[in-house]
Amino acid sequence: MTHRIGIGHDTHRLETGHVLRLGGIGIPHDRRAVGHSDADVLLHAVTDALLGAAALGDIGELFPDDDPANRGRDSAEMLQLAYRRVQDAGYRLVNLDCIVFAQRPKLGAYKKGIQARLAEILETAPEAIGVKAKTGELVGPVGREEAIAAECVALLERVGA
Ligand code: MG
Repeated sequence: MTHRIGIGHDTHRLETGHVLRLGGIGIPHDRRAVGHSDADVLLHAVTDALLGAAALGDIGELFPDDDPANRGRDSAEMLQLAYRRVQDAGYRLVNLDCIVFAQRPKLGAYKKGIQARLAEILETAPEAIGVKAKTGELVGPVGREEAIAAECVALLERVGA
């Protein structure tokens, strides 16, 4: 099998704050995501997409939320460790396609920065990273700004194939 596809999804609760961690960058905002690690919902979805494509489990298995070592942990570091597992299994990333679901802030101005940061974390080209954003149309947990969510699809290819 030369190519494998994976999907990742994550949701985090929002509360009053000053900086929203998203895609490895800090976005000035009046809400922040709550979680055991740094609560970067997009990096968590990307991590699960990569692990899933290689059938290597999920982020909760690699980095249990009852392990104090993971408290406040940098999600970029977790993503790099997960991708190293994927590479050790003989695969490399072809491309990612991601969607962030957030009512606010407007993410248009941040998409290029997130794309660049994801490319940096994964040591790949920005052209391999798709970043899209949707609001919650003012309904549901996303629309009411109670939650932020992200989805990611990842394609891997076997190295040397
Ligand atoms: Mg998460």
